Amino acid sequence: MSSSQPYPPSLTPTELSRLITTIKDHTIAHGLAVRPPPSLIASSSDLNTILATTAPVTLFPSPFPRICFDQAKGIQKAYNELYAGIASDEEFLRGVVEEIIEVDEFIAELWQVHLKVKEEGYTQKFSLGLFRSDYMVHQSSSDDIPVIKQVEFNTIASSFGGLSTQASALHKYLSHVSYPLLQSQIPIRSLALPENNSSIGLATGLKFAYHTYIASQKHEKCIIFLVQDPERNIFDQRHLEYELQQSAIPVFRVSFTETLSQTSITDTSKRELLYHPSNFSKVFEVAVVYFRSGYGPDDYPDEKAWKARLQIERSNAIKCPSILTQLAGAKKVQQVLATPKGLASEPSVLARFLKSSSAEIESLEKTFTNIFPLDETPAGLEARKIATDKALCNGYVLKPQREGGGNNIYRSAIPKFLASIPDSHWKSYILMEIITPPPVQNLILRNGVVEKGGVICELGVYGTCLWDAFTGDVLHNEEAGYLLRTKGDKSEEGGVAAGFGSMDSCTLV
Ligand code: ADP
Ligand code: MG
Ligand code: MG
Repeated sequence: MSSSQPYPPSLTPTELSRLITTIKDHTIAHGLAVRPPPSLIASSSDLNTILATTAPVTLFPSPFPRICFDQAKGIQKAYNELYAGIASDEEFLRGVVEEIIEVDEFIAELWQVHLKVKEEGYTQKFSLGLFRSDYMVHQSSSDDIPVIKQVEFNTIASSFGGLSTQASALHKYLSHVSYPLLQSQIPIRSLALPENNSSIGLATGLKFAYHTYIASQKHEKCIIFLVQDPERNIFDQRHLEYELQQSAIPVFRVSFTETLSQTSITDTSKRELLYHPSNFSKVFEVAVVYFRSGYGPDDYPDEKAWKARLQIERSNAIKCPSILTQLAGAKKVQQVLATPKGLASEPSVLARFLKSSSAEIESLEKTFTNIFPLDETPAGLEARKIATDKALCNGYVLKPQREGGGNNIYRSAIPKFLASIPDSHWKSYILMEIITPPPVQNLILRNGVVEKGGVICELGVYGTCLWDAFTGDVLHNEEAGYLLRTKGDKSEEGGVAAGFGSMDSCTLV
């Protein structure tokens, strides 16, 4: 991209409307789509006709430092190994969970499910992770080399891999067909649009687990996507389903609430999970359960839902993720990894999980930003001072042990929020420094309306990993494409599903 031209280029009203039409058609033709938000459906009768709308998307790929992109992709396999290691280390996880269990009912319930299965004995040794490590760019001053700082690491329902491939494809298409026609041209060669195989990458992880699973030979094997119903982000999941079905793998969508009626466990010592929906006679043996739900309390409205989770956990199916893998993704774990040790000479916590060289451990630690506990340790007491101080709290975000967006408390809202809950609950939160990436401009198309201005980009790198949870041995470990999500710089949260973010892709600078 030439620095003399403004980016993104300014558009005449005609150009803008032509570009929007092109984007609307391309996105629907290629499934860069979501179910429409309820507010857009004028009457309930429309539900049958309006099935899809363009997912929020940027009109141009956002500039992203190449050095940061390479850094994030380059360390993904080490991150996969790290989290496979954490998920295989029950003792470590117990230590973390025990700190929050009495005040966080959801984490406590998950832990209970794990303990029940442990007592009976896990039959499946393999665990699958479809991970996504999220980052923002950090640059101390404009002269400094930009680096990535990790926002969080997702171990359950890491979404948008299906749509992300399509967002990259859209921008590539526009760079060939639409951008060259603009008055203030962007020379095609000035855009550096990296390949993005997130769809195939994630499907490859699922396929590997499917083929590793040893079936009882009585039934054909299948993969189950355990989903929410209704699900606005269904097309993202469909892209992965289609990838698998092209390889002749039977895939079924089962909603969390249907689990108990459509699956059962054999009475063999293996405890195979069978899938037998009432509307067809064939029975399948479930090789892999891929969770696209079950990550938050809302998915467990009653005892039945917890029974369903237990049924899956105690079965022989390979879980993506297992309970321990889900817990490894808790923000409390991220904080424990990132909180500096008292003495610099002490070995890194990461060494416990990684066989890698110290250089690799260092490359992971470089992506950590300051995260503090809010407990009664010296670091926690220090953090409590920051979190309750009107001025100091402005550089921080407070996070509970939750997933899926919309759960955090930002900046000046922190002291008031903490005052509204009992002190005894504070320790279930972590306090994290806010990352402020250098300013970027873009235009976001959301529900037919264009928003223009300063944006904040969050890069996610996918990883797939299959490991033996009994021994910690890793059988499959791959980096699996990327996601760029972009939100207006006035918005605190960035989840596309939560309604604030948009799909994007990188032009490397
Ligand atoms: P969730 O698991 O709910 O997605 P995140 O930790 O990713 O939780 O937080 C949600 C959003 O909040 C992120 O996508 C990002 O936009 C914003 N956010 C979280 N942590 C930070 C941070 N340290 N600095 C800046 N923004 C953050
Ligand atoms: Mg998350
Ligand atoms: Mg997130």
